[in-house]
Order: sequence, then structure tokens, then C-alpha cells
Amino acid sequence: MSHDPNCIFCKIIAGEIPSATVYEDDHVYAFLDISQVTKGHTLVIPKVHKRNVFELSEEIASSLFAAVPKISRAINDAFQPIGMNIVNNNGEAAGQTVFHYHLHLLPRYGEGDGYG
Ligand code: 5GP
Ligand code: ZN
Repeated sequence: MSHDPNCIFCKIIAGEIPSATVYEDDHVYAFLDISQVTKGHTLVIPKVHKRNVFELSEEIASSLFAAVPKISRAINDAFQPIGMNIVNNNGEAAGQTVFHYHLHLLPRYGEGDGYG
């Protein structure tokens, strides 16, 4: 399935739910997390609906990860963090709450920045 009408991130891609765009190309969408763990917390998702890493094709993974350096640099330019964690939860047991594959880009600002 490339679009799941019940998926909140598919609705975001379709523009049915507003989001703050960080980056977009033909295959990838990046937007600010609604609940910012750190300033500039960004989610990077494939435009097709895949639940988790186990469902990703090499093609989808390639286009997604190819975009990560430029998205990370855009976050650096916008927010000037001093580091960045890139996190991905797969499955409820791993803390996944939205079942459309996503990477968390978590800019870091030093001790007490809210993460880790
Ligand atoms: P997970 O726990 O699945 O790894 O992360 C899901 C993330 O999606 C959470 O950080 C949560 O704040 C974010 N999120 C959930 N619903 C929305 C939404 O409607 N808009 C945006 N921008 N982020 C969302
Ligand atoms: Zn989806």
C-alpha cells in the first residue's frame, strides 16, 4: 500500500493535516515534530506508506538516507545545534507510536537540552 488513509503521516504528506516543512523531494518529506524533544526536532519519512524498517525496499531506503545529510545541514543552518542524534523506533516494543517509517533528527545543544 502506498497510501494508508488511516495513517497520520500519510495525511500529512497529502496535505490533509498541516505540518512545518523542512525538506521535500519526489520520494522524501521532512517536517518538524509536533512535540519537539529538542529545538528543530525533525521527522524524515518516505512518501510511500511503509510501517517500519522491515518493510523498506533498498530503493526507498536509498532515497530516504540520501536526503539525510542535506536535511541535517539545513537543521544546522537554521538552529545551530552542536550535535545531532538520528533515531528510529521499529515496533511498539521499541517505542514506535506512529506506524509509518520515520527517522527522528534530534539536534543537540549540550547538557540539559531535553534529550538523553
Ligand atoms: P515514534 O514514537 O513513533 O518514534 O515517533 C512518532 C513521532 O511523531 C512523535 O515524536 C510525535 O510527536 C510525532 N507526531 C505524532 N503526531 C504528529 C503530527 O500530527 N504532526 C507532527 N508534526 N508530528 C507528530
Ligand atoms: Zn503512512
